[in-house]
Amino acid sequence: MYPIPDHLKPYLTPVGEENSELYVHGAVHCSCGCTLFTPYVNDAGTIAAAKCHQCGEKLLLFHAGRHGWDGFVAKADYLYDLSGKLKPISACPHCYAVTPLVIMLTIASLGREDFIQGSELTDEHGRKLREEDWVNAFSSFRMDIACPQCGQTSESIIDIETA
Ligand SMILES: [Zn+2]
Ligand SMILES: [Zn+2]
Repeated sequence: MYPIPDHLKPYLTPVGEENSELYVHGAVHCSCGCTLFTPYVNDAGTIAAAKCHQCGEKLLLFHAGRHGWDGFVAKADYLYDLSGKLKPISACPHCYAVTPLVIMLTIASLGREDFIQGSELTDEHGRKLREEDWVNAFSSFRMDIACPQCGQTSESIIDIETA
């Protein structure tokens, strides 16, 4: 069981050997199968989205006010600067080629048992949570992008503690 939040389950393919209940690293793909996107982020690095290069579908990848322990369980969206327009990343930060990009996500979690004990299966607003919601209460989120032109990866376009 990997800590892939519900909103990313259809879109994230785990990659590598290190994945566990506490950590998942993977590549984003659209529901059409395409793996190239225009990523969008706000200045504060608290919201990330992506637009599919092939079909134009827009995916919300991360929103600090809704996802992770603080957003999902503690309802502590006031901790985050959620202002600012989402801006596209339309060129590779390494080679400056204007190109759609590969998106890699890394999500860390304190695990299912920690979530059940810590939340007592209720969020800050008194709403019931399910044991399966442990995946939505992750503790950090990182987004990297890779360029299909030069092959370089630009790490930590977003890198945020969410608990
Ligand atoms: Zn698509
Ligand atoms: Zn490049």
